Amino acid sequence: MRVKVRKESTMKVIWDSNKCIHSGNCVNSLPTAFFIQDDKLIVKPENASWEEVLKVVSACPAKAFTVKE
Ligand code: SF4
Repeated sequence: MRVKVRKESTMKVIWDSNKCIHSGNCVNSLPTAFFIQDDKLIVKPENASWEEVLKVVSACPAKAFTVKE
């Protein structure tokens, strides 16, 4: 299942819950932009720079994120 978690201007961060292995890397690396709320991963890229967000996205060990323009 693919879940759209955030839209920032023309860019979107898509989180694939089926790929996520719950390593916690994203929420530990950039907790202002990646956090758990009501058992769901929330991504708020406006709380960080896009460079920081993209760095976390690319570091996901499960490649659970997709960024689309
Ligand atoms: S870094 Fe990737 S695998 Fe780890 S919790 Fe975040 S989305 Fe899931």
